[in-house]
Amino acid sequence: CGIVGYIGTQAATDILLAGLEKLEYRGYDSAGIATIWEGDVHCVRAKGKLLNLRSKLEQVETPAQIGIGHTRWATHGKPEEYNAHPHMDTALRIAVVQNGIIENYRELREHLKGLGHEFSSETDTEVIPHLIAECLKHISENTVSASMFLEAVREAVSKLEGAFAVAAICADYPDELIVVRQQAPLVIGFGQGEFFCASDTPAIVPYTRAVLPLEKGEIARLTPLGVEVYNFAGHRLKKHPRTLNWNP
Ligand code: GLU
Repeated sequence: CGIVGYIGTQAATDILLAGLEKLEYRGYDSAGIATIWEGDVHCVRAKGKLLNLRSKLEQVETPAQIGIGHTRWATHGKPEEYNAHPHMDTALRIAVVQNGIIENYRELREHLKGLGHEFSSETDTEVIPHLIAECLKHISENTVSASMFLEAVREAVSKLEGAFAVAAICADYPDELIVVRQQAPLVIGFGQGEFFCASDTPAIVPYTRAVLPLEKGEIARLTPLGVEVYNFAGHRLKKHPRTLNWNP
């Protein structure tokens, strides 16, 4: 229902939680965040109010400077913690949040199960991290793309049918946050050596007024050095942020 993401030099967890609070108005039944530090993805999720997630996060150390967060409004699978986003692949290297619906998730799930992927939720979303993991296996080191992770997400997303927005991170590519828009809204915020993404601008404006709303069928790679935007065919697009006139 609501997506946030951060990559930069500040404490990601605080920024992600603050962003999710700004998206509370969209309604939700559970929430979660995933960050990367010391080479691993750390995923924390909670049913119910953001307060529940916040109190869980207070019990763990969170020195990360990259992460994604989600407030869920269940469409596929009960509103329980095991269905809350982020969802991960079997090896727990990739974390994904999704806003919307993946129509062809049943076929994809059966196919991926046949390839040995283990699922731990009832959601449509969980096929995405498994699909990215599968694509990563087959991408050669010599890919012409800017990044293997970007290429894997692009390939995975091209197999999805539905109306959605996605944000993904991978422990093996700790300087990359990939975001995708296919229908559901997604805005990128440009800071100084830090970049943000969210389903809506209120989650971004406390940090920057320079924003770029992604168009349908676009995929962006956020690193601490900047933002690159591509179409689903993998062609780089020329995009520049615009400055918001925002009177809170
Ligand atoms: N269809 C997804 C789910 O049920 C995402 C719902 C949402 O946008 O919050 O997990």
